[in-house]
Amino acid sequence: MLRLVKVTKVYGDPRDPENAASAVTALDGVTLSLPAGSFTAVMGPSGSGKSTLLQCAAGLDRPDSGIVMVDGEELTGGTEAELTKFRRRHIGFVFQQYNLLDTLTVAQNTTLPLKLAGRRVDRRRAREILTQVGLGDRLDHRPDQLSGGQRQRVAIARALVAEPRVIFADEPTGALDTRSARDVLRLLQDAVRVHGRTVVMVTHDPVAASYADSVLFLADGRLAGELRAPSVDAVAERLAHLGDDRDDRDRSGAGAAYAGV
Ligand code: ADP
Ligand code: MG
Repeated sequence: MLRLVKVTKVYGDPRDPENAASAVTALDGVTLSLPAGSFTAVMGPSGSGKSTLLQCAAGLDRPDSGIVMVDGEELTGGTEAELTKFRRRHIGFVFQQYNLLDTLTVAQNTTLPLKLAGRRVDRRRAREILTQVGLGDRLDHRPDQLSGGQRQRVAIARALVAEPRVIFADEPTGALDTRSARDVLRLLQDAVRVHGRTVVMVTHDPVAASYADSVLFLADGRLAGELRAPSVDAVAERLAHLGDDRDDRDRSGAGAAYAGV
């Protein structure tokens, strides 16, 4: 369902002598393949390229080289307009800070992707999808009348409303309390198990990662391992040792960053 081949993303221009030193290779030749109906967590130290990976995979950003394919369609091929159209139809995105529009109601926020895609927007569809996330009675509320957990559930409803094939979530539980986080994780899990969607979620929380079918670890913009059927302990253990084989690199890096988790 999702395929990346040698995807590289560099911020800053390495050919520009003025800025060469500040150029950052955020993704360094990432190749991966995720089957339809899978739930994958992406983990790694801060700055390891997790968000860049999601943005490139979701077509929100363009890699400098490499190929991204979603359901057999190459995202990296077409024009900006074609990419936007494809994204609106087939991809949902959930952000850590919800990214809801404060001036719109819950129902309007939820159906915005349909509206942008020129599809029919009806209130029944809004009610149906918001009921699925437990907010069927909040259609006319504004985001600022909701808790963080409720806002993120609206964001998930918005990501699901167009029935996309793939849903990307960048630290969707990062701003939530334990209970709201669990609600959000169960919704993402249901999207996979009940509705057959493919979910890719960045998280730094081993508990959140344990909801996934497998965990991909990133370090310095490269894949640094995979863990299938992850348990909380196994994830924490792997994180603690991430970067151990990078011999003489800074010991306060990857592993130590997770020591307090
Ligand atoms: P993560 O999500 O794992 O914390 P990111 O993908 O956000 O990592 O960032 C990877 C690297 O790319 C970091 O070194 C970061 O500073 C750099 N980076 C991310 N976005 C930009 C940007 N827009 N401009 C310049 N550098 C960036
Ligand atoms: Mg990030």
